[in-house]
Amino acid sequence: MRVFKFGGASVKDAYGVKNVIRVLEKVGYKDTLIVVSAMGKTTNALELVIDKYLNDKENLAHELLEVKTYHTTIINDLFETDQHPVYQAVALLFEELQLFLNSNKSPDYNFIYDQVIGCGELVSSTIISHYLNEMHLKNNWLDVRKCIKTDNYYRRANVDWEATQAHISKAVAPATLYITQGFLASDSNNFTTTLGREGSDYTAAIFAYCLNAESVTIWKDVPGVLNGDPRHFSNAKLLNTISYTEAIELAFYGASVIHPKTLQPLQRKEIPLHVKSFLNPEDRGTTVNKTKGIEPKVPCFILKQNQVLLSLSTLDFSYIVEENISEIFTLLALYKMKVDVIQNSAISFSVCFENAYNNLEPLLLHLKAKFKVTCQNNVSLYTIRHFDDLSIKTLQQGKTVLLKQLFQETVQIVTE
Ligand code: ADP
Ligand code: ASP
Ligand code: MG
Repeated sequence: MRVFKFGGASVKDAYGVKNVIRVLEKVGYKDTLIVVSAMGKTTNALELVIDKYLNDKENLAHELLEVKTYHTTIINDLFETDQHPVYQAVALLFEELQLFLNSNKSPDYNFIYDQVIGCGELVSSTIISHYLNEMHLKNNWLDVRKCIKTDNYYRRANVDWEATQAHISKAVAPATLYITQGFLASDSNNFTTTLGREGSDYTAAIFAYCLNAESVTIWKDVPGVLNGDPRHFSNAKLLNTISYTEAIELAFYGASVIHPKTLQPLQRKEIPLHVKSFLNPEDRGTTVNKTKGIEPKVPCFILKQNQVLLSLSTLDFSYIVEENISEIFTLLALYKMKVDVIQNSAISFSVCFENAYNNLEPLLLHLKAKFKVTCQNNVSLYTIRHFDDLSIKTLQQGKTVLLKQLFQETVQIVTE
C-alpha cells in the first residue's frame, strides 16, 4: 500500500479538495490510505473555541459558529444539493462536540483540548470522503481512534505500537482506498488523544510502518524539502534526496516541513518518504531514503524565532560546575522548556530555548534565587547544516550575534 498525507494547506478550501482528486487521478489511488489534517487553520480556530469555553463562555457560541460557517462554505462549494448526506454527517460531528462541551466535568486543560480539537480532522475527513465518493473515487472512511492507540498523555500522546499494529492489521485490507484523520488517536478508555501539533505526518508514518507500506507521500505547498524555509530564505533550493539521518537532523533543528517523529518509524522499515507539491504532483519532489547525506550537497538553513537566551553565573563568583548545571536542567525540565543550544565557560552558562508553555516568569523567579541571570527574549536561532565560510558570513551580515557554536557539520547562531 501507499500512504498519502494531505495537510491543512492542501485542503483549505473547495478548490483544494477538488485538487486532491486531480492529484489522485494523476498519480493513482489504488491500494492507498489517505491521511488528512483539519482544513486550513481549523486547529488554531478550535484552540480559540477551547479558550472561550474555559475563560469566556459568552463568546463560545460565536467562536464555534466561525468554525461551522467556514466548513459549511466549503461544503456548499463542493456539493450541488443541500440534501446531500454530508450535511447531516458534519452536523452530527458538531453536535457531538457540543454534547461534550455541555457535559464535561473535567478541569484538565489537556484532556479538554484533545476532545475538542479532534473535531477538525473528523470534519475534514468526512467532507473529503463524501466528495471523493461523489466523484466516483469510492473510499472507506476510517476512524483513526479505532486504529492508533496511545497512553493518556493528552496533547502529546505516546503510541502503543503493539495495540496499534493489531488494530490497523484488522481494519485495513489491501486493494481499497481509505481516508482517515491525522493527528488523532485514542487512549485505553477510548478518549481522543493527539500526537502533538503538526502530528499528521507522524500519523502517516505510523500507518506506513504497521502496513509495511511501499512509500509515504506528504503533499505540500512547496516543491519538496528545500535547503531553507522559503518564507525566510530567498532562493531556497530543492533537495532531491536526503538520507533518513539527515532528515531527522533537519527536523530536530526545526525544519518544520516534516514533523520530527515521522522519520524514525520509516527508517526502521526503510520505507521511502516523498515530499511533493500538491500543485505539481508529477514533479519528483524530495525523496528521503537510505541514501547518504543530501543531494545536492548545499548548506541547509533553519530558523527558529521567538527563542529565549539566558546567561547564568553563580552569585558567589565560583565556577559553574556539575551541580549547578544539574540544578538548571531540573528547572528547565520542570517548566517544560525545550532546550535548543547550551554553552558553558568557567563562570557562565548560556542556554537558548523555546518558551512553549509560557512558563518563563516562574522559571526566572526560581533561577534568580540561585544565580545571577540575564535574559534576552525574542532572539532568533539559526542553524546551518553543512555550513561553509560563505554561508556563515552571509547569514551573519547585519545581525548582532549573541552566541555561536560549531559542532561537526552544524553551526548554530543566536542573534538579536
Ligand atoms: P501542512 O499543510 O502539511 O501542515 P506545513 O505548512 O506544515 O504543511 O508545511 C509546509 C511549509 O513548511 C511550507 O509552506 C514552508 O513554509 C515550510 N518549510 C519549513 N522548512 C522548509 C523546508 N526546509 N523546505 C520546504 N518547506 C519548508
Ligand atoms: N491539524 C493539526 C495541526 O494543525 C495536525 C496537523 O495538521 O498535522 O497541528
Ligand atoms: Mg502543518
